[in-house]
Amino acid sequence: MIFKSINPFTQEVIAEYESLSNAALNKKIALAENAFNKWKHTSFQERAEMMQKLANILRENKQKLGLLITNEMGKILSESVAEVEKSASNCDYYAENAEQMLKDVYYETPFKSMSVYDPMGAVFAVMPWNYPFWQVLRYAAPAIMAGNVTLLKHASNVIGCAKAIESAFLEAGFPEGVFQQISIEVSQVETVISSNIVQGITLTGSEAAGSSVASLAGKHIKKSVMELGGSDPFIILEDANLTKAAEVAAHSRMLNAGQACICAKRFIVTDKVADEFVSLFSANIASLKQGNPLQDGIDLGPLARLDLVDTLADQLQKSLKQGAKLVTGGSYENCNFQPTLIDFVSVDSVAFQQETFGPLATVIRAKDENDAIAIANNHRYGLAAAIWTEDREKAYKLARKIESGNVFVNSLVRSVSQVPFGGIKKSGYGRELGAVGIKEFMNMKSLVIE
Ligand code: NAP
Repeated sequence: MIFKSINPFTQEVIAEYESLSNAALNKKIALAENAFNKWKHTSFQERAEMMQKLANILRENKQKLGLLITNEMGKILSESVAEVEKSASNCDYYAENAEQMLKDVYYETPFKSMSVYDPMGAVFAVMPWNYPFWQVLRYAAPAIMAGNVTLLKHASNVIGCAKAIESAFLEAGFPEGVFQQISIEVSQVETVISSNIVQGITLTGSEAAGSSVASLAGKHIKKSVMELGGSDPFIILEDANLTKAAEVAAHSRMLNAGQACICAKRFIVTDKVADEFVSLFSANIASLKQGNPLQDGIDLGPLARLDLVDTLADQLQKSLKQGAKLVTGGSYENCNFQPTLIDFVSVDSVAFQQETFGPLATVIRAKDENDAIAIANNHRYGLAAAIWTEDREKAYKLARKIESGNVFVNSLVRSVSQVPFGGIKKSGYGRELGAVGIKEFMNMKSLVIE
């Protein structure tokens, strides 16, 4: 099978990559095993030196790597370069903090007792194209600092990014086999999951892919972490700073051309301030410039693939038929989808029920605060949420009632190296990042010494 990288803005085929044969895949799995047997004995200091070198290599090459991201999946160049910088900072963070996070934990018992953290083997990662560097370094930096090795199956439209990340690891001095990208077909995924060296599986992607890979992980009794889709609510209460909320709302919906799991997708506004919020929000959305992602002054580029435009257009048309009102935008051509806002979206409409992966913002009007929380929770997904209110105490109480893995108050939802990140419900399970994330693929061994 041939994987094609297609520039979404020009539709030009920029590279083709052949998938691995089964024999070549088995060699890579064996290499991971050999590498793990040595890597697990290296010190945190040795690992940290290489990880910091990797961070520097990413930073030194951020323009070149940013261009690769933009050419393969279409986000604007400034966002691509910022993604490479963020990935580099994540490497720094785990180089500096992994040892402390994984230190032995002692218990108060009549005998000496403790927990120690041992690496488990290879982490098999299935990753999406929307943040082709960040998603990879988000799991790989902690996993490798902890003494594990990894095999990466990246999305088939960003194999160039996967190869560039692998080259950067090798250039930083990591031994062969510690980080390997494998260009495999979905039908080869079980071979990897069933291999002895793979002891952890992490997937970031859609609910359908998560369900399939989690089933295989269960079948072969392997621990898994699932970071899946979302339809995050962005709740605006009566005492919110509406001007700021409307600015951040537009940014939160439209970043990466709306193609992020944590983009706000459902804007739930209490009736009293709904008209004013919609007017501010719509002005912000209408002012965004869409176009060539390599040009300065452009706010959003094309969607990553033509089929994503078809899906979003279908969701928009169905929702309009179901009673939603078009406020701004609504047109699309090739991979370009105009930033769009629809109002009066009902809870049983397609745009509410499904994840919308593109620049389509939906406003749902709520009677009051309690109604807003009920609407927010009335969903199959539970990844993240934002609440806008000037009352911080109320914000804390309401945040505790929200059914999601993350809640941000008066801010854009984002994932940061220090803070555990993950979802509940159909948004998945397990956590990445922080001291909790790094332990997901460790053997927490209880050690008792009489
Ligand atoms: P996707 O179609 O699920 O693809 C993600 C990865 O899964 C790709 O590598 C894909 O490979 C692979 N895949 C698809 N079906 C599979 C199967 N049956 N078995 C094994 N692997 C399979 O998702 P996407 O369109 O790339 O990404 C968008 C989705 O990811 C959205 O739902 C978004 O919310 C979610 N996401 C979640 C997070 C989070 O942190 N929770 C972050 C980013 C994105 P191929 O490319 O070869 O099909």
